[in-house]
Amino acid sequence: LLSVSNLGRSFGTTRPVLDNVSFSIGKGEILGLVGESGSGKSTIGRLIAGLDRPDAGMISFQGKIYAQPGPTGLRIAPDLRAAIQVVFQDPYASLNPRRRIEAILADPFIIYGESDKAVLRERVRHLVNDMELPADILQRYPSELSGGQRQRIAIARAIALKPSLIVADEPVSALDITTQAKILALLGRLRDRLGVSFLFISHDLGVVSELCDRVIVLEKGHIVESGPTGRVFDRPEHAYTRQLIASIP
Ligand code: ATP
Ligand code: MG
Repeated sequence: LLSVSNLGRSFGTTRPVLDNVSFSIGKGEILGLVGESGSGKSTIGRLIAGLDRPDAGMISFQGKIYAQPGPTGLRIAPDLRAAIQVVFQDPYASLNPRRRIEAILADPFIIYGESDKAVLRERVRHLVNDMELPADILQRYPSELSGGQRQRIAIARAIALKPSLIVADEPVSALDITTQAKILALLGRLRDRLGVSFLFISHDLGVVSELCDRVIVLEKGHIVESGPTGRVFDRPEHAYTRQLIASIP
């Protein structure tokens, strides 16, 4: 589905943040991306989401290159914009505080051409139902929701246009354990039901081992290890991976 080849990214004159990063994500696969703070995880997420441009290498989606070095300014085709969605750690930062949930969730459909009020209302209601949220939430503002509910709204907005891939950057890190488990179960069901793939970025190896099919381990912008989650966690091959695992409380 998605292929990342020899990706590189530098900021200024310091050591590159990403160097020669290559991996791929299959359809319906949940790929974990782990590594300590500053290792370059979010930078990879932003490049895949088309929010930043690489200095080296390329990214292709369904065999078509869409990200490679070039002049600044990104031109991502609208169909790709819909196909690759992002969910961030803090949904509060990505939900407009001045708009009701109903309007926030109607946006993706409006942007992609739907204008019929009844159709919009039905689609939004369906999304909220899918996220196991009560319908009365639609008339509220983001500040009137709990953290877990806000994250469900951010996920609802991400799946509105039936994407093929969701880049989830620490999507449950700000939530308590119980809410984490519920959101993770929800993501697992989305994969099963919609066949959506995930790049699941997390510093929480426990969460990654529960959810992800495969995992890649990033150290200072290099991939040091990758493989099926069970194998990597049970028999890590690289000292850095062993160190990460040892640091789990
Ligand atoms: P965390 O787990 O803390 O979220 P991360 O693995 O997601 O860390 P990144 O956000 O990808 O790390 O950052 C990797 C490095 O790149 C950091 O040293 C960061 O300061 C640097 N960096 C990221 N974006 C920029 C930017 N726009 N300009 C300059 N430096 C940047
Ligand atoms: Mg990050």
